[in-house]
Amino acid sequence: MDVVIIGAGVGGLAAAVGLVRRGHDVRVFERGERLRTGGAALSLWSNGTAALGGLGIDPVGLGRPTDSVVGSTPTGAELYRMDLRAVSEDLGWPNLCLPRRELLERLASELPEGAVSFGPACTGTRQEPGRATALFDDGSTASADVVVGADGLRSAVRAQLWPGDVPRSRGYASWQGLAPLPIELAGSGTSRWLSGAEGTCGIIPAGGGQVQWWFDLPWTPDDPEPSHPAQVLRERFASWTDPDVRAVLSQVRDADVSLFPHMQTRVPRIWGAGRVTLMGDAVHSFPPSTAQGANQALEDALVLCAALDAVRGGDAASALRRYERVRRPRAARASWVSGRQPTQVLKGSTRPIPLPEAALRGLLKAYLKSVSNALRHAPRGPVAGV
Ligand SMILES: Cc1cc2nc3c(=O)[nH]c(=O)nc-3n(C[C@H](O)[C@H](O)[C@H](O)COP(=O)(O)OP(=O)(O)OC[C@H]3O[C@@H](n4cnc5c(N)ncnc54)[C@H](O)[C@@H]3O)c2cc1C
Repeated sequence: MDVVIIGAGVGGLAAAVGLVRRGHDVRVFERGERLRTGGAALSLWSNGTAALGGLGIDPVGLGRPTDSVVGSTPTGAELYRMDLRAVSEDLGWPNLCLPRRELLERLASELPEGAVSFGPACTGTRQEPGRATALFDDGSTASADVVVGADGLRSAVRAQLWPGDVPRSRGYASWQGLAPLPIELAGSGTSRWLSGAEGTCGIIPAGGGQVQWWFDLPWTPDDPEPSHPAQVLRERFASWTDPDVRAVLSQVRDADVSLFPHMQTRVPRIWGAGRVTLMGDAVHSFPPSTAQGANQALEDALVLCAALDAVRGGDAASALRRYERVRRPRAARASWVSGRQPTQVLKGSTRPIPLPEAALRGLLKAYLKSVSNALRHAPRGPVAGV
């Protein structure tokens, strides 16, 4: 089967790798001039690494394993703690944090030379009997058995399917960056989440001495983008005395800060039409509050590969609808939970969570299983029975 994928982000590249490994012909079209190198780091939970494993990519050695999560107040007083190593052992796949660039480069390195084309932007698709065609803004086209829109939050492929169905703001934005920081945490496997009245903050080692940090703040589409974001952060969090937060704020420069509004799209019941489908943020973008977006894109890639592999020259459109049916309930659950912004619940709290560590861990495991297809099949390898 030949497949055209629009977008060389996490989802598009992962699907391409899985399909190439199964012997399909794949062409990826990315509107950027090169792979995206920004976007700081990503947390991959056990479900995302299980999906990577199912696609044939060993996650061991990528980024930095996250062994524990510690939640704190702005002064550093502990509110809760979770042993993520125990979660990994129970679920069979690691939790880790890695620079987005590292993941994209690793995925791209698995593809044949020339599989990814850069430059023209996709403007939509067209279908003829037995073929689907992607259209580009330079007038060129690319036809295949199947076209997959993996073109992210402002997907052109989605916009053509449901004009006017646009992402909406969820009232927050993440101000984030990735930098080598001279703090002990950088060399550890501990992820820190802090919450106070001013906002929430995360600090996670991403490997190689690099630290991923973010601050989540209220935001509306009418807010102007600040010209000196580092100063805004320093002023807003001036009262926070936690030493790791102080280290981040004292080192951060304007050029290190990227602002990402929290947006959410409706998760439609069917994700495409005929020989066209969607994956990743193009079909289920949601706030990063549970750090599941890229994990869900990897899950999509795994199930899409299994569904297309099962038809081999048969009814491609039915295979796409089967992929969508399998993925939709779990992706929609991840979107629903993330849209509730669970990380904001502890804002201003100074009392430790009255739950034992094992109970919190149990909740996390239940959530990861509930949003995953990969974990259900991981011990037996790539998704079967799709
Ligand atoms: C602040 C923040 C933190 C996050 N942290 C995490 C995290 O820790 N863990 C996690 O799992 N997820 C996280 N996410 C979510 C994650 O970044 C996304 O869910 C993930 O990148 C989606 O992958 P994708 O491949 O679907 O889309 P993208 O990564 O957006 O890739 C889409 C690609 O398509 C290209 N493209 C767009 N339009 C066109 C077009 N018309 N023609 C051709 N190419 C096009 C783009 O240039 C891009 O390369 C976070 C998101 C944000 C905003």
